[in-house]
Amino acid sequence: MTRWRYAAATDIGLVRQTNQDALYVDDALAIIADGMGGHAAGEVAAAISIDMVCAGFREHQNVEGLVEAIQNANRAVVSDARGNPEHFGMATTIIAVGLTYDLEGVMSPTLVHVGDSRAYQLRDGALRQLSEDHSVAEEWVRMGRLTAEEALVHPRRHQLTRGVGVEDTIAIDVRSISALAGDRVLLCSDGLSNELDGDTLARLASAPNGLEMAVESLVSEAKVAGGRDNISAILLEFDEVNVATFPIQRTMSTAPPPVTSGARASSVRRRRWTWRVWASVLIVIALVVGFFSVLHWYAYSNYYLGDDAGVVAVYQGQPHGFLWYQPVKVFDTIYTAKQFLPIDERAIARTISEPSLSEALVSVKSLHRDWELSRVPKSATTTTTTTVTTTSTTLATTTTTAKKG
Ligand code: MG
Repeated sequence: MTRWRYAAATDIGLVRQTNQDALYVDDALAIIADGMGGHAAGEVAAAISIDMVCAGFREHQNVEGLVEAIQNANRAVVSDARGNPEHFGMATTIIAVGLTYDLEGVMSPTLVHVGDSRAYQLRDGALRQLSEDHSVAEEWVRMGRLTAEEALVHPRRHQLTRGVGVEDTIAIDVRSISALAGDRVLLCSDGLSNELDGDTLARLASAPNGLEMAVESLVSEAKVAGGRDNISAILLEFDEVNVATFPIQRTMSTAPPPVTSGARASSVRRRRWTWRVWASVLIVIALVVGFFSVLHWYAYSNYYLGDDAGVVAVYQGQPHGFLWYQPVKVFDTIYTAKQFLPIDERAIARTISEPSLSEALVSVKSLHRDWELSRVPKSATTTTTTTVTTTSTTLATTTTTAKKG
């Protein structure tokens, strides 16, 4: 059997016009809700949440029942805000300790929370914070972007990353409390934890002169320190504790936490696309482009003479094509196939390859010239042989002379 004694207090503080905190405590359940929203809507969100959690926990006094009760509270607050324009934007934190039964029927304390209301455990005068604030500044502390000291004065220390009524789904922190008889657990809204430091909280909450006195002194000291927000505190003291047979060290609901800006979602995407991934993709693209560039270069690195329906033409490409690359005709020459020696005509029909376009042009002119010389009478050819090898101008003159002869 696990049993606790309790005391609780809530106060409007010295600055606020309304008290939007709400609390509930009995022999098995303790809850604080810190409502937010204008025109008293925060009070509505806090009241709805407390009612829903109490009702749900009464039906199922186990961890699942406690978590489901908060999920139901979230749905109820979201639904109420959508149906009542004056409640638009309302939300609440919630922190609760329930004495839950495990599968063996053993009762032990379980903590659930959403938002920046806090739970502390006190043992022998020492204070240990059990909950993690779901605020932007505290999330940044856990990420290493801020120190704990910087978070205390950071402008976003009050901006919540999770709250009941903020999103359709909600992530809930759940943990078992490993308590001994004599331990105390303090639940409080941020109106208390923002005003009093850890040493003061430990001293006042551990005071031996009764739970009621301790709670009253916590609230009154918070008001002395400024009282800038509503102040709520529940102090539990365990008289008797059973050890859970299936202790929960720490679990989180599967729903992702609400994101206050696009930063978190985009950071997840950035983690997937690291520079290594981008570098790998670029290397693969470069290899593919390089491979096809080499194929293309080889396919069109050659020129050749060929017969195109009786006309000698210059082609670029491999004579019979290469893979899917087909040769292309660069131009037709002014020569027909019959204007070459028979042996050259047959060679052209089989194609004559040249490494460049200029060399293909030189080759076709040279072959054609051989054909022209073959047509010059032997006497004329003999007398002009020396001249032919001298210059092409002289060749033209000689050829003309041969025709006249
Ligand atoms: Mg508050």
